[in-house]
Amino acid sequence: ALQVKGLSKSYGSNTVVCEVTLDVQRGETLCLIGPSGSGKSTLLKCLNLLETPDCGEIWLGETCLTAPHADVDAARSRIGMVFQHFNLFPHMSVERNVTLGLTSVKGMGREQAREIARLRLKEVGLGAFADQRPGRLSGGQQQRVAIARALAMEPEVMLFDEATSALDPELVKDVLAVMRDLASGGMTMAVVTHEMGFAREAADRVAFMCDGRLAEIGTPDRIFESAEHPRLRQFLSQIL
Ligand code: ATP
Ligand code: MG
Repeated sequence: ALQVKGLSKSYGSNTVVCEVTLDVQRGETLCLIGPSGSGKSTLLKCLNLLETPDCGEIWLGETCLTAPHADVDAARSRIGMVFQHFNLFPHMSVERNVTLGLTSVKGMGREQAREIARLRLKEVGLGAFADQRPGRLSGGQQQRVAIARALAMEPEVMLFDEATSALDPELVKDVLAVMRDLASGGMTMAVVTHEMGFAREAADRVAFMCDGRLAEIGTPDRIFESAEHPRLRQFLSQIL
């Protein structure tokens, strides 16, 4: 579904993503792991065109997102993104946070948008919180609202960048459970995470990034049981 070919991105003379080629198949969950500063977030932002790659191509289905006259807004609306910080609007209800993209970006009527929002909120276990302000919710609940907001747009691919890193430990598991449900429900996902348990259980493949390069990629068994790259072995020995 999503294909990356020879993608590079530099900031000044610092090459932070270097010739990365990879694909995420339809329905696949790909986890991206690697040390801090290895370029995981930058790669994810390039996929969503929040950063402009210096070279390389990104394909979503039959569409080349990096073509000179590609419709960036149209491409973005096909890709959902969930960040570490959920950036909900504090002065709007939970439901309005979810409907906003539908009414303003997709031009959907308010009633239809509300129906979708209620459905999505129910899916992430927050059906009862639709009328609350986000500030009344826990961090984990707010992150699940952010996931519902992304899902409401019916993206073809979901990107997660350390969606649980800012949460208190006891709140992490509810968010991971929602992500697991999505993965097993057939969503196409690229997930940057430090949660090795999640990577092991929910990922179809795991990719290890190191110094901006895709150093190793394989099934969770391959990556966690018989890693080849010395830096990957070192990385795993430090965190497992
Ligand atoms: P972490 O695990 O800490 O989130 P990461 O793998 O996501 O790390 P990136 O955030 O992609 O790493 O950063 C890769 C490198 O790019 C880092 O050295 C970082 O300092 C640099 N970098 C990221 N964004 C910018 C920017 N906007 N301008 C300049 N340098 C940047
Ligand atoms: Mg990062």
